[in-house]
Amino acid sequence: MGFLHSSSLFPFLLVFIVSFSWPITSSADIYGDFLHCLSSSSISNLVYTQMNSSYSSILESTIHNSRFITPTSPKPWVIVTPLHVSHVQATIRCSKIHGLQLRTRSGGHDFEGVSYISESESPFVIIDLANLRSVQVDVENEVAWVQSGAIMGEFGGGYGLLFRKYGLAADNVIDAEFIDANGRILNRKSMGEDLFWAIRGGGGGSFGIVLSWKIKLVHVGETVTVFSISKTLEQNATQILHRWQYISYKFPDGMYPSITISTTNTTTQDGRNLTVVVTFSTMFLGRANELVLLMQNIFSELGLTSKDCNEMSFVESILALGLLPNQNLEILLDRNYRVSFLVATPSFKTKSDYVKKPIPEIGFQGIWSQLLEPEARGATFNFVVKWTNSRNLQSLSHIGRGIYTK
Ligand SMILES: Cc1cc2nc3c(=O)[nH]c(=O)nc-3n(C[C@H](O)[C@H](O)[C@H](O)COP(=O)(O)OP(=O)(O)OC[C@H]3O[C@@H](n4cnc5c(N)ncnc54)[C@H](O)[C@@H]3O)c2cc1C
Repeated sequence: MGFLHSSSLFPFLLVFIVSFSWPITSSADIYGDFLHCLSSSSISNLVYTQMNSSYSSILESTIHNSRFITPTSPKPWVIVTPLHVSHVQATIRCSKIHGLQLRTRSGGHDFEGVSYISESESPFVIIDLANLRSVQVDVENEVAWVQSGAIMGEFGGGYGLLFRKYGLAADNVIDAEFIDANGRILNRKSMGEDLFWAIRGGGGGSFGIVLSWKIKLVHVGETVTVFSISKTLEQNATQILHRWQYISYKFPDGMYPSITISTTNTTTQDGRNLTVVVTFSTMFLGRANELVLLMQNIFSELGLTSKDCNEMSFVESILALGLLPNQNLEILLDRNYRVSFLVATPSFKTKSDYVKKPIPEIGFQGIWSQLLEPEARGATFNFVVKWTNSRNLQSLSHIGRGIYTK
C-alpha cells in the first residue's frame, strides 16, 4: 500500500533491493528486524509468520475466492491481528521503518482479493482487523460506532436492501476513527472534510486505516415483505424483463427490486435441455397486501399474488434474499460461513457494468445465447436498480456478472 511509504528515497531503495534479493541476507535482515520491532512493541503474540502453525488458517480465514488460495498466490511475510489501536500503530510504524508494504484486511470480501494479496513482488504484511469488530449502538441518538472488522451480518453495509431509500452505507457515515501513515489517530474534524470524503469512496487502503465508523441509524418497520418469482424463457422471461426496465425505477423507494439471471436444466419444445431463468426478487418495507396492489398497478405482467409474498422482519429478509432462507439468524454472525450452493470456497470472477438505457429484447437474446453456451455454465447475471439519490451512485441500473466454477 502506497500510503505507508514516506517521500524520502530510503524506503523506496529498500523495497527495490528486497524485490531483487529476497530471500537472501538483506531481506532476511529486514524480516528479522521487522519482527524484532514488533516484539519490542509487545505484540509478538498477535504476529503470525509463515513458521507459525496457525499462519495458513489465519490467512485463509476470510479468503472467499479460491482463485487467491493457490501455491503461486503471493503470501504475506507476516499477518498481524491487532486487539488494540496501539497494535495497529505499532505495525504501521515497524512496516514504515523497514519499508514493507501493508495490506489492511477487514472482511476480506473484496472481489479481487486486494486486502490480502500483493500485485508487486515486494514482501508485504497484512493487518487483519477481524478482532476489532465491536458494534456499539446508541439507540437514543440513533447512531452506532462500528469497528472495521465487523462483517455485514454483524452490522450491514455497502449497497444493501435499504439503499434506494437511505443511500449507501457511505452516505450514512458521520464520523470515523482513522490512523494515518504517521500513526496519528484522526477523526472527522482533525482529518478535514477532503480526507473524510476520500475514505468513504473507492481506493480502500490508500489513505490510511479506518478503525471504526460512526454511522447514522435509520428506521425500518417491524414487518417487511419479500417475494421471489422465477420465469424461464418459455414463460416469457425476456418480455417481462424487458418491460421491468421501463417501470422498476417507478417503484417506491422502500422497495429493493433485484434480478438474478442464470440457467437451469429443462426440456424445451425445441429439444434444448438448458434454459435461461430470470428470478425477480424484492424486499418491500411494508405489508404484503400493499405490495400486491402496487405490483398489480405497476407491473401486472409478473402476476404477483399474495401467495408469492412472505412477511417477516427486516433481518430475516437478509437471509431470505441472501440465499439462506432455511438458516438460523445466528448464521449472519458466522464469519466462516460460505453460501451453501457454492460449496467450500468458490472460484469466481465478477464484473460490473452500469446501464443507462434499457436493453432491447434483442440485446437480451444475445446475452441468452452466450449464457446457454456450455463454457458459460455456472455464470450468473444480477440486475439491481440503483435509482438512488446517493452522492456515490446515480445510475439507473447495474449488471453484475459473476462466473463461478467449482
Ligand atoms: C460475492 C460478492 C458479493 C458482493 N455483494 C455486495 C453487495 O451486495 N453490496 C456491496 O456494497 N458490496 C458487495 N460486495 C463488495 C464488498 O462489499 C466489497 O468488496 C467490500 O470492500 C468488502 O468489505 P471488506 O471489509 O470485506 O473489504 P476487504 O476485502 O477487507 O478490503 C477491501 C479494500 O479496502 C481496504 N481496507 C480494508 N479494511 C480497511 C480499513 N479498515 N481501512 C482502510 N482500508 C481498508 C483493503 O486494503 C482493500 O483495498 C460483494 C463482494 C462479493 C465478493
